[in-house]
Amino acid sequence: MGQITLNQITKRFGDVEVIPPLDLEINDGEFVVFVGPSGCGKSTLLRLIAGLEDVTSGVISIDGQDATTVPPAKRGLAMVFQSYALYPHMSVRKNIAFPLRMAGLDKAEQDRKVDQAAAVLNLTDYLDRRPGQLSGGQRQRVAIGRAIVREPSAFLFDEPLSNLDAALRVGMRLEISELHERLKTTMIYVTHDQVEAMTMADKIVVLRAGNIEQVGSPLELYKNPRNRFVAGFIGSPK
Ligand code: ADP
Ligand code: MG
Repeated sequence: MGQITLNQITKRFGDVEVIPPLDLEINDGEFVVFVGPSGCGKSTLLRLIAGLEDVTSGVISIDGQDATTVPPAKRGLAMVFQSYALYPHMSVRKNIAFPLRMAGLDKAEQDRKVDQAAAVLNLTDYLDRRPGQLSGGQRQRVAIGRAIVREPSAFLFDEPLSNLDAALRVGMRLEISELHERLKTTMIYVTHDQVEAMTMADKIVVLRAGNIEQVGSPLELYKNPRNRFVAGFIGSPK
């Protein structure tokens, strides 16, 4: 579970083709980072995979099934939003349980799953607090907890750390990498930060104006960038 294939997908907004025909294979359990400058289409690509936007053409398959027209809630993927997307008036427990309540799970089952996620994320002692009583890092963990309880076949992150300060960002990077080690679930992580890409990814997808410039491991891109753009992004001369 967690294998995603994009086959000749495109996306237009009006007359503007933001994503030209694009192919990509994401393997089960991979940590894939989409990296590229602001406006290059990273969020759009992630939203297409999540189903929050419809592709203009092409096919998206998830675990071998055509998911192109499957609604977001049925794709088995979980988008992790930035921590400010939490409900400020709800406790941590209620924030994490929110998707389970929406799915109609009974209270005992909700509690069981929330307790499990909280243990993984070191949030057990904070379940009765509200987001405003937490640190930035703890809030980000709550946002991740809300995704974990859904037991998705892949996690989708859109610049989840961009509103955290630099020191916290480093710590959260490590925490997300550790979470990947533990869960071994596919993760797609969008960032414009080269360091995040190089330190977190199994596979980096370098985007420029909606095009994939290169796909490879951090080491492959570092040693053998296809062009100056990729080299510039990865920080090695060419
Ligand atoms: P990134 O996440 O890499 O910064 P985006 O995917 O947000 O880039 O945007 C890619 C391009 O698509 C940008 O030119 C942006 O203005 C455009 N775009 C994104 N969403 C919409 C939309 N809903 N309507 C029109 N244009 C959009
Ligand atoms: Mg974006």
